[in-house]
Amino acid sequence: MSEQTDIPSIYASNVFGDGEMRARLPRAIYKSLKNSMASGTQLEPEVADATACAMKEWAIQKGATHYTHWFQPLNGTTAEKHDSFISPQGDGVIMELRGKELIKGEPDASSFPSGGIRATFEARGYTVWDITSPAFIYESGSTKTLCIPTAFCAYTGEALDKKTPLLRSMEAISNQAVRICRLFGDQQTTKVTASVGPEQEYFIVDRETYLKRKDLIFTGRTLFGAMPPKGQEMEDHYFGAIKERVGSYMRDVDVELWKLGIPAKTEHNETAPAQHELAPIYNTANVAADENMLVMNVMKKVALRHGLVCLLHEKPFAGVNGSGKHNNWSLTTDTGKNLLSPGKEPQKNGMFLLMLAAVMKAVDDHAGLLRMSAANPGNDHRLGANEAPPAIISMFLGDQLTAVVEHIITGSDESVPEDSILGIGVSTLPFIRRDATDRNRTSPFAFTGNKFEFRMVPSSGCIADANIVLNTMVADVLESFSDELEKAENFDEALMALIRREMTAHQRILFNGNGYTDEWCQEAARRGLPNMRSMVDAIPELTKRESAELFERQGVYTEKELRARADVEYEMYSKTINIEALTMIDMAGKDIIPAVVRYTGTIASAVNAVEAAGADASVQKELLTRVNVLLRQASTALADLKVKQETAVKMTGEAQAHYYHDEVFPAMEILRAPVDHLEMVCDSKIWPMPTYGELLFNV
Ligand code: ADP
Ligand code: MG
Repeated sequence: MSEQTDIPSIYASNVFGDGEMRARLPRAIYKSLKNSMASGTQLEPEVADATACAMKEWAIQKGATHYTHWFQPLNGTTAEKHDSFISPQGDGVIMELRGKELIKGEPDASSFPSGGIRATFEARGYTVWDITSPAFIYESGSTKTLCIPTAFCAYTGEALDKKTPLLRSMEAISNQAVRICRLFGDQQTTKVTASVGPEQEYFIVDRETYLKRKDLIFTGRTLFGAMPPKGQEMEDHYFGAIKERVGSYMRDVDVELWKLGIPAKTEHNETAPAQHELAPIYNTANVAADENMLVMNVMKKVALRHGLVCLLHEKPFAGVNGSGKHNNWSLTTDTGKNLLSPGKEPQKNGMFLLMLAAVMKAVDDHAGLLRMSAANPGNDHRLGANEAPPAIISMFLGDQLTAVVEHIITGSDESVPEDSILGIGVSTLPFIRRDATDRNRTSPFAFTGNKFEFRMVPSSGCIADANIVLNTMVADVLESFSDELEKAENFDEALMALIRREMTAHQRILFNGNGYTDEWCQEAARRGLPNMRSMVDAIPELTKRESAELFERQGVYTEKELRARADVEYEMYSKTINIEALTMIDMAGKDIIPAVVRYTGTIASAVNAVEAAGADASVQKELLTRVNVLLRQASTALADLKVKQETAVKMTGEAQAHYYHDEVFPAMEILRAPVDHLEMVCDSKIWPMPTYGELLFNV
């Protein structure tokens, strides 16, 4: 990309957005399409045909030869099945995309995880165009493919993806939030959108170095590795100067994302060496989820071009900060109002306080589900493992807002002048500027001015999971609030009573202190807040009766879909740990132990040679003994890990996942310890792979 890239002219050039639609579609078709987009109704066949044709023309002009329905199966990745536009006609071919191909596809569903949903019915699955997320062209090398964002369902309608329930949850929150708007006399709002801005953390390493690490290649994280002499203790990386090679990588990523209409906005170094962050400007939840999948794909793809590798794993390096995603979430009306904004006029803040009470109640009542929504095997190394954020869900409001909540709970408004008291008996809520909310980086769920920031989301995961839970649980609370308030004879009184009641009932979820401390763990236990340290502890949240009731009430998941998801999660956990165990067995057995065995031979020869020369060989002998002891430990641990892994693969389902967690994973840790120790005592020339130092400080 040239130095003088004309950003406005390339921005969204690979997106079939509103401008292209307007320019390429007959007026009536365009209007009908926009109408369907806004209302979520089905496209008329002639509208679908005309749109498909225009989209194809546009894509071909851009150099695309293929199209794909692009979707997010349950394994947390993106999937695509490419078809060319070619359609036989006479002796030759024409380039074609028909309306029905645009709106519906039929991929071979059996190759995606379904948690048994398909087994009981037909193996057929459908992809259906999500018309609210624009089609785009994805460039990979010289190939350009028209990608049509879709939802993926079974023949019987059960969701086989993350997009379908996300869209359902967005509908649920919109319906319930509109009711709240009405309560406050807002007759204009017809739709409320969940807006999401995810901040994506990642590591960048040199590709040549990466390719010498089987663990990074197969599992995305290092399974062995001693700490380098320098880690992140100097705190010199966060917001530090971006190195040239990384800087030009980031620039290329930006340009690719801009072409895809993704407003990549901020980039900076993160806490750990080689760690960085990218944040786009927020968007509608489903589009933000699609965009985040693209961001991850583009970051990985562009890195290779620069001789780099982008690591999205939550914990690529032990002893160094891991990566997450901060999921910034708010609710916006179609009249442009943010329902989570405290606003400048305190007298209008009853609505905000009601929303705040709703979020407090939702987070407290469904902390387990929220925790589960952030669970993946990689995140187990962060949540509940001495790293940000802790596995306990709590809410940070900052001092100002906490004071307001306390004020409401105690009902002490005597000292506040009458004219600054809200109609609901609350003292004036100070206008909270975004920057005025103090920072608390340890809190998993923080109010940051006009949005909530859920900070547990795993860096490699799909943000749909977290937003499905956020939307659904808040929708459910808003529904109960509306039910109550719509019946009230005196609205102001009822509102005041409700806010006070709910804030009082759920104040235990508020915590402004340091979430990393043991004291907080104890305090949280006293408050009865759940602390699920691992993914396998969190998965049962999906199949609890209350969860099924919640999701069914809001029309987001059926009980069957939830059970299927739990099955998929257990399976994913087991598969992940299994691959890690096998990789360790391979590295220890074939690379590390043989190298150390050779090394002991070298030392033994040195001992003999030194003694033959009549000199003191005690240092050599000492070293040999130390290395031998560690070698013995490593060899025993390796044998034990092998036995456990072989036992685990024969098991299934929940029991298998627990066995991997309780037996295999600790056995991996036991093997790692002597190996990392060996790395520190052996001659660096014999070590069979690059060290942490080489990985972290080599770009
Ligand atoms: P910080 O690092 O201070 O948390 P960043 O600026 O890196 O903040 O990222 C904040 C993210 O939150 C961005 O993606 C931004 O677009 C998003 N965001 C800002 N306002 C809202 C909002 N009202 N709703 C949802 N996301 C928002
Ligand atoms: Mg943030």
